[in-house]
Amino acid sequence: MEHKLYIYNTLTREKELFIPIKEPYVGMYVCGPTVYGDAHLGHARPAINFDLLFRYLKYLGYKVRYVRNITDVGHLENDADEGEDKIAKKARLEELEPMEIVQYFTDRYHKNMDALNVMAPSIEPRASGHIIEQIELTRRILENGYAYISNGSVYFDVDKFNTKFNYGKLSGRVLEDLYSTTRELDGQNEKKKSYDFALWKKASPEHIMHWPSPWSEGFPGWHMECSAMGMKYLGEVFDIHGGGMDLMFPHHECEIAQSSAALGQDTVRHWMHNNMITINGQKMGKSLGNFITLNDIFSGNNTLLEQAYSPMTVRFFILMAHYRSTLDFSNEALQAAEKGLIRLMKGMASIEKIKSSAITSFNLDDFEKKLEDALNDDLNSPILIAHLFDGLKIINNLIAGTETIMEKDLEKLKNIYTSYIVDILGLQQQETTNQQLLNDVVDMILNLRIEAKQNKNFALSDKIRNELNKVGVVVRDSKDGFEWEITK
Ligand code: ZN
Repeated sequence: MEHKLYIYNTLTREKELFIPIKEPYVGMYVCGPTVYGDAHLGHARPAINFDLLFRYLKYLGYKVRYVRNITDVGHLENDADEGEDKIAKKARLEELEPMEIVQYFTDRYHKNMDALNVMAPSIEPRASGHIIEQIELTRRILENGYAYISNGSVYFDVDKFNTKFNYGKLSGRVLEDLYSTTRELDGQNEKKKSYDFALWKKASPEHIMHWPSPWSEGFPGWHMECSAMGMKYLGEVFDIHGGGMDLMFPHHECEIAQSSAALGQDTVRHWMHNNMITINGQKMGKSLGNFITLNDIFSGNNTLLEQAYSPMTVRFFILMAHYRSTLDFSNEALQAAEKGLIRLMKGMASIEKIKSSAITSFNLDDFEKKLEDALNDDLNSPILIAHLFDGLKIINNLIAGTETIMEKDLEKLKNIYTSYIVDILGLQQQETTNQQLLNDVVDMILNLRIEAKQNKNFALSDKIRNELNKVGVVVRDSKDGFEWEITK
């Protein structure tokens, strides 16, 4: 295929020309969410960055099989293979079936992704649906001598692996340093070395989710699922594996070790990692009190937010930064993105006002090449967006008549803007301002109604609901407040 797309490979630390293993097919795997809570800003970034890559590869003509998993079992609370399974813990605390938690948060994740106009992956496998494949992979690693059984659990033998391969080549970690920094916890003496990691864990009696295996009734180690599902759906060697930078170690380092130990080679050609989002310069975390979910952002319901921001504003904000740069969330930055997006979308719509002439007075091919070059340079979306803004000046000149364009070039200009803004960047026209205003006003009235109820003024609360009903707004009380819809 005729293109010059260069992608930075985290493993080689170089930008490499992207040549798929089996043209025109591309296999791409991205680590998806662990579904035990609502998606937050940190989930939006990889979803949107890899959506851009998915869309651009398809635009270039590739047939892409995009696999993004759902982690629903085996992701323990810490990386030392200790603590509870995150989903099982939530299920225990809330007296729910673990799969109820998984279904609930997977559905909410999908709603968030739809709002952000993130395309659904080709396959979205769940870890719990691939226990057999994970057991089989564990068996192969054991057979090849790179793992050992200890008290019903199976651990990866990092020292043994390191005699033939290089553990740490992705993250740059050195074994001696790891040895001194990994904690020796009680119960960890099952392992030969503290940096060995679990391929299979024997379940303790109180552990809810467990399956039979040749070694014990238990569950897979977290890193197993991506190795097993990547191989199953994309083959023993595939083109791209992506995720957030926080997954480089231990998750992806362990994936490389697992597949090398099982197959004698890496499964992945290009490793890609997006950088993290900070909030007002700080790392985001529940314990730091600066945790913002996507639903918070869309509703404005969080003390860190001065207003609600639309999903398209969030998408544009994320695309305004290169995926390998850090990105700082602040109200000012989001407000700037909101304004920029409105200007870009209005500019694109104004192409309709241009009248064609006999000649084209500027070089349209040059303009198109700049856009291509930006994305081909490791998906440089901020440079692409800057060129699209530059193009708005040409569009304004064409409307004013200080530049001219031939009819066929005008068609081409329209196509260029639609392709890059709508198809590749995935930006959509936002709700009209009036709609937003109506939403805000109804929400405000219903919040006053909640206050009335809290003050035991039920007459007023009923009156508000009935009056809204009369004008066509049907209100339903829900667990977290209210829901409403317009029926007229
Ligand atoms: Zn993964």
